[in-house]
Amino acid sequence: MSLIGTHVSAAGGIWNAISRGESLGCESIQIFTRNQLQWKAPPISESVAARFMAAWRDSSIVRVVAHASYLINLASEGKTRERSIASLVEEINRCEQLGIDDLVLHPGSHLGEGAERGKELVSEALRKVIERTGSARTRILIETMSGQGHTIGSTIEDIAWILEKVGDHSRAGICLDTCHLFAGGYELRGRSSYERLVRSVEKHVGSRHVGCWHLNDSKTDMGSRLDRHEHIGEGYIGSEVFTCIVSDPLWEETPCLLETPKEGPGDEGNLALLKKMRGY
Ligand SMILES: [Zn+2]
Ligand SMILES: [Zn+2]
Repeated sequence: MSLIGTHVSAAGGIWNAISRGESLGCESIQIFTRNQLQWKAPPISESVAARFMAAWRDSSIVRVVAHASYLINLASEGKTRERSIASLVEEINRCEQLGIDDLVLHPGSHLGEGAERGKELVSEALRKVIERTGSARTRILIETMSGQGHTIGSTIEDIAWILEKVGDHSRAGICLDTCHLFAGGYELRGRSSYERLVRSVEKHVGSRHVGCWHLNDSKTDMGSRLDRHEHIGEGYIGSEVFTCIVSDPLWEETPCLLETPKEGPGDEGNLALLKKMRGY
């Protein structure tokens, strides 16, 4: 079955994320292993890593996914590029320390240089990162983006192109975000739209390379290219695609993670809804 969960805070010590997720009834969680808005992060000590892994082992959480810092931009050049590569290497090492197998990454923004050049830069940087973390097993999941500004990766084909260039499918895959896909122009309303999306994923990437889903409804209409998450079923996408995803045996053992607003129905409401949609 799909593993329903949400992004949880790691405030007060990263091990706290586990009990937060568990108290919400999560089967999977997503966390930042560091402050996502700062370049520098204090290293994770062995005792902190051990405490995190013990809490995870003793919990009902099956999978933990990490989300990389928002500052990383592999499509940049110059100093930011070097910083981004070093920072992603560090993020992978942190995941390795914590036993986390998947790290979600925003592919980046080409800053006006053009999408083709941007994709080249991203895939080149990813190859470097994979090379520098040779013995690691953590897989980088490139997230589908809404296409705002100069962001790269608003189509499955673009991400497939990058993955193809990277070459190592054991180390790189894809994260499908429903809000971003819809805002980027993918119709997701109705079962047939969902089936068309799955066919496109199978054709270009392969469903086995989908490391996780981000389940978010959208505050803005299809093709808006804006990134505004809404509670499940309360936005322009509506409920049906979420029922299709969480109940599809194709996503067996795949984290289906909420990044919906914390107010209103909150995590409790959205998680309960997803479990009802899945049927158990
Ligand atoms: Zn993201
Ligand atoms: Zn988003």
